[in-house]
Amino acid sequence: MAYHPLFAGTAGGGPKAAAARGAAVAQDTPGGHFPVGGRRRRDGPVARRGRWAIPWGIGPSGRFRVYLVVNALLRRKMWEAALKFRLFLLVMTCLLAGLALRPGDALAKPEIVDARIGDTAERTRFVLEMSEDLPYRVFTLPDPFRVVLDLPEVAWRLPGGDPPAARGLITALRFGLFAPGTTRVVLDMKQPVLLQQVFVIPPRDGKPHRLVIDIEPASREQYFAAESAATGEAAVSDEPLRPLAEAVPALPQAKPADERPMVVIDPGHGGVDPGAVGVSGYFEKNLTLDYGRALKRALEATGRYRVAITRESDVFLKLRERIRIAQETKGDLFISLHANVHSSGNIRGASIYTLSETASDEEAAALAAAENAADVLAGVNLGDQTGDVRNILIDLAQRETMNLSKKFANDLVREVGRETKLLRNTHRFAGFAVLKSPVVPSILFEIGYMSNRQEERLLRSEAHRAKIIESIIRAIDGYFERQRAASRT
Ligand SMILES: [Zn+2]
Repeated sequence: MAYHPLFAGTAGGGPKAAAARGAAVAQDTPGGHFPVGGRRRRDGPVARRGRWAIPWGIGPSGRFRVYLVVNALLRRKMWEAALKFRLFLLVMTCLLAGLALRPGDALAKPEIVDARIGDTAERTRFVLEMSEDLPYRVFTLPDPFRVVLDLPEVAWRLPGGDPPAARGLITALRFGLFAPGTTRVVLDMKQPVLLQQVFVIPPRDGKPHRLVIDIEPASREQYFAAESAATGEAAVSDEPLRPLAEAVPALPQAKPADERPMVVIDPGHGGVDPGAVGVSGYFEKNLTLDYGRALKRALEATGRYRVAITRESDVFLKLRERIRIAQETKGDLFISLHANVHSSGNIRGASIYTLSETASDEEAAALAAAENAADVLAGVNLGDQTGDVRNILIDLAQRETMNLSKKFANDLVREVGRETKLLRNTHRFAGFAVLKSPVVPSILFEIGYMSNRQEERLLRSEAHRAKIIESIIRAIDGYFERQRAASRT
């Protein structure tokens, strides 16, 4: 797993870094110039990167060679910065742990007060204005090409509440919590790119700290050459630098005596990955969390089940982590909650999906592709994951699991159908990554269409949610009753 080129640092990296920044950085407007100490060429890569190469007195004889020098220096900075970042998170964890004892006493988060994108023929510049000097980590990911920025948990206070419109090399921009304590910004790129430079401008002329990321176009060859030049020495994981508390909520410890079935609830999306966006601008991730939490409370209240939930807050979880939770809790049933959108605002109704390598129809296939894209959207490197998932699929245990999944899906279709409108061919089959656990019967429930104005309003109403949850519980009851009856005969 190699993520490179990578830049990281803290804005206040000591007097030397500050001096380097002062010398190197003039202004953050696109088209602004980059004075470089002593030697300066117009447009050449040497001039642009001169501030890294020159203090060591290495003659900039060629683009590639200079680039390696740059990486060597940056790597040292990166390791220092990564260490600082970890320490920072550790301190934050301790602080938060202290605060947890006094609920209501919220810790003021650092703020992002503005975000801008500018572009010229040579580069696209992304600027974040920050209320304080924050540690950061920036790296690129290929296929699709993305630039990812990790920050400590921040509050977004953008003017007008909206992120800047995509332009230049940037085709889309997302931000949100990636793990507790880590905010992630993902910039989708039009093509392969290299990080030209990343730096922080200290407060000046009434402007706060500004984090600047300059991105330049590159060919695929250049991108992978730069990446392989860095491999081995700077193997950086895409795992968020987590506080000691795990991202995943504490899972209930299964007491050996407790024979009650374990139901694992999986609210789709979260954090940096909002999922679908409804007509009113409501995010799927919030809807699924609402339903997930309510279902958990209601199931626990029956006293008949043990219940685990993959996330209990607005945090991102990789698809693979969701499967892992289902397996580690030895789940007897895994229910992934989602909501759908359609280009036609007329389409509405609930639908239920089980795993199949061949989708039952084109729409189901497209939906699976959209849901599976969650990891890509959140800036996760999928490089080594596809093989895993495929191997899991081969597992023979899956055949039986799939049959059980289908049985539960049928129960659910029947019960939900009593409460709400169903999509035609309600039980469908498609290759959802989140259902690929070989041992846990799993279904994906698309509660309805957020692209239909009426249905979106309905989905968000408490009365409707209560009805849906009751119907899920009736289906779960029926499913396990049949299981018990079958095991008695
Ligand atoms: Zn979804």
